[in-house]
Amino acid sequence: IASSAIYRVRLIEINKRALVTDALTGIYNRRFFDEMLGKQIALAKRDKEPLSLLIADLDHFKKVNDTYGHIAGDTILQKIAETLRTDIRSSDILARYGGEEFVIIMPSTGLTGALEKADGIRRHIELLDFNNNVAAGQSLKMTLSIGVASLPEHGIEPVTVLLSAADSALYKAKRGGRNRVESP
Ligand code: GH3
Ligand code: MG
Ligand code: MG
Repeated sequence: IASSAIYRVRLIEINKRALVTDALTGIYNRRFFDEMLGKQIALAKRDKEPLSLLIADLDHFKKVNDTYGHIAGDTILQKIAETLRTDIRSSDILARYGGEEFVIIMPSTGLTGALEKADGIRRHIELLDFNNNVAAGQSLKMTLSIGVASLPEHGIEPVTVLLSAADSALYKAKRGGRNRVESP
């Protein structure tokens, strides 16, 4: 009886984790991010602390899929997620927002610090070589464009204001030539 109870508890834990995890990359999914962003913004306001939000989108990712195939594309997404995970603080929240878009909530981090952090991530990705994951001996480079928005500079309420500020910063980075970091 005891062991079947433990088994049930484990199953519940696995289920709970699956609900908030992106299956491909193992980082948080969008559902978790959406819930967390509202809570983190509320906390930041209460404590009068800054907060930053990064949206990162792979550059010309469709071309990679078209050239090397979807499986290779998936492997790249996994390696990008792993790189982002090691680059951030344990108190930051990393999630896969959509196909090749990643978001990072940085509590207690102001705009200047977040811009520096984002540029460090951008340079790290730029240095990576994905050749081993795709076609042996062939060099494959990837770059990221990143939009950064912060509290209190880019709006307090509602949550969607900060999100769309980060999103428009991302499009500024894309328009500006990609492989760059921008704020609104
Ligand atoms: P841009 O620099 O403007 O962002 O160009 P892009 O090609 O990255 O942008 P676009 O939005 O046109 O293409 C995104 C591509 O990401 C399209 C889709 O094939 C690919 N993609 C989305 N999700 C996945 C996934 O889970 N696995 C793989 N392999 N590819 C994915
Ligand atoms: Mg995209
Ligand atoms: Mg893209």
